[in-house]
Amino acid sequence: MGLRAISYGGGVQSTALLVLAATGRIDFPVFLFANVGDDSEDPATLAYLDRYAKPYAAAHGVELHELRRVRRDRTVETLFGRLTRPGSRSLPIPVRMSNGAPGTRGCTADFKIKVIGRWLKAHGASKAAPAVVGIGISLDEIERVNARRAMPYEQPVYPLLDHDPPLRRIDCQRIIRAAGLPIPPKSACWFCPMHRPSTWAEMRRDRPDLFERSCVLEDLLNERRAELGRDPVYLTRFNRPLSAAVSAAQATLPGLDHADDGGYCDNGACFT
Ligand code: SF4
Repeated sequence: MGLRAISYGGGVQSTALLVLAATGRIDFPVFLFANVGDDSEDPATLAYLDRYAKPYAAAHGVELHELRRVRRDRTVETLFGRLTRPGSRSLPIPVRMSNGAPGTRGCTADFKIKVIGRWLKAHGASKAAPAVVGIGISLDEIERVNARRAMPYEQPVYPLLDHDPPLRRIDCQRIIRAAGLPIPPKSACWFCPMHRPSTWAEMRRDRPDLFERSCVLEDLLNERRAELGRDPVYLTRFNRPLSAAVSAAQATLPGLDHADDGGYCDNGACFT
């Protein structure tokens, strides 16, 4: 049988897939987590991975591989490292331009899709024999399916949508709890510009050190932009620095906070 793997993002949806695979309800023996960097992933996601996901996978005979982007010289490159490299002009994350629109990004492709693709190809996936790659998209975010472009060496499938009945995020939480696991935190880079305003506001309240690091990163990117004579960019859509933007975001009415729900961060299992 051909290769069957889950693109594991470390969040609620893909952890539910881990439980479904571990309990024989879906047939995926391999889970692939593309770690974009220990300095880049949300520390809470990495802690969950080490404390819960890896031991649970191992106890149930599921292979969970943590993959990293490796350069030609065999050193590991991280997304934060690429962003902050001295003299770098690279802006690989989807920062917001002054009109609030997300800029183009290479992070998902370079640090997730290609990293997982390299592993799949090294293990036999090809255009002639594509790997079946399961993606953790739940019914309440079904629009993300259309945003995903299949690579030539893979055949994407959506086990949560194929489930009878299709599963929502809340069903995923129930499945995780029933397996005796805690609910994982939202998985994304701590500095991801696709965070909802409420996520930034919670970070400011609960993890001020991480929030402060995000402000410092935004300042660094803009110092560089200023040297190049370019307009500033921001980590939120509010056209002002993060520290000012988040208090503005707190005024957002509950339920009107969907514009930044991570829906663009699709291909490589960010936020899943
Ligand atoms: S979480 Fe955001 S910053 Fe990180 S790889 Fe995905 S899109 Fe890029």
